[in-house]
Amino acid sequence: MAMIQQDSARTEAIAKSAASLMSEADVPPTPQNYRVWFEYALGENEDLVADVEERLQRGESFTAAMNAQLYSTYFPGGDGGSSRAEDETQRILKDILGELLSTSGFASDYGEKLEAYAQRLREARRVSDIHSIIGNLVEDTTKMSESSRRLRARLEESTAQAENLRQELQKTKQEALVDALTGLSNRRAFDIKVRETHEEFQRSGSLFCVLMVDVDHFKAFNDNYGHRVGDAVLQVVAAILKETVGNDGYAARYGGEEFVLLIRTPSISQACAMAERARRRFAAKRFKIAKTGKNIGKITASVGVALVKAEDTVASVVERADKALYLAKELGRNSVKSERDLPQA
Ligand code: GH3
Ligand code: MG
Ligand code: MG
Repeated sequence: MAMIQQDSARTEAIAKSAASLMSEADVPPTPQNYRVWFEYALGENEDLVADVEERLQRGESFTAAMNAQLYSTYFPGGDGGSSRAEDETQRILKDILGELLSTSGFASDYGEKLEAYAQRLREARRVSDIHSIIGNLVEDTTKMSESSRRLRARLEESTAQAENLRQELQKTKQEALVDALTGLSNRRAFDIKVRETHEEFQRSGSLFCVLMVDVDHFKAFNDNYGHRVGDAVLQVVAAILKETVGNDGYAARYGGEEFVLLIRTPSISQACAMAERARRRFAAKRFKIAKTGKNIGKITASVGVALVKAEDTVASVVERADKALYLAKELGRNSVKSERDLPQA
């Protein structure tokens, strides 16, 4: 029986995972809250544990503001820690599997008991002995089946919680890197990508170009046609850029009406030609207001192109692309300029 109790106690501990702690504390199951409580249940971050514990002891209620504060205090980088939390989720899933395996241990414990009963039955001399053996056997069997039902229910519950948590974490992580309006990578994803690309360049010499794209006179456009129409235009720009770079390049929304492309090529002319194709496609696009059918005049964009060089940092090559973009703006917009067009410093 000791084995059964041990198993139950361990299952109990797993079942008291983040999700149930949260529901006890009346904390809504958002991905952010999950991360805080997950870390708490994990017990490794001493500051977080002490903080949450104090609040629990003081009987404070976990308001939305407090939950947000806990999240921003212990996860200042947003999703930066989620891969670790995900690892931990994996670990819990593994523990649960381990738990399942050790259940077979307790079944064999029961098997040994059956052997012992069989032996006692063989040796029994009186009917009253047999009665008492069968009584014990029935008792143990009942305990065993109740315990195994409880165990299974807890395992299922813990598995479901861990799986939900894993999905939530994955979703948060993904959302943190994608621009909601255009579906392109966002600025944050770009920062990671350009760092990786630059590191690879330093390692293997694989050259790349940075292309900064900015919609022309977009403020006036928004003022004339409204922000909603402006948003639709940005979605078109994004789609054209994505198609332009194809599978080998990389397109991201840099912010507002600015986009950035990374193209692996040693040839700045080739990168400019690509930018030129995208610029033309965009300028040739005719937009219509869906409701009224009214035509909107053409919208254009300007592009600046730079090729990475040995002494570049990420910042310096992006800055050169930006300078080329501003040159394109100065020279009348709706054009592609590269660092080769810049006056030599
Ligand atoms: P320039 O040709 O010099 O780039 O002029 P501009 O008007 O495009 O540049 P400016 O930086 O003055 O204005 C950018 C405008 O982009 C302002 C803002 O209203 C608009 N914008 C930024 N983000 C969004 C967005 O998500 N949706 C919409 N509709 N407009 C946006
Ligand atoms: Mg602009
Ligand atoms: Mg701009």
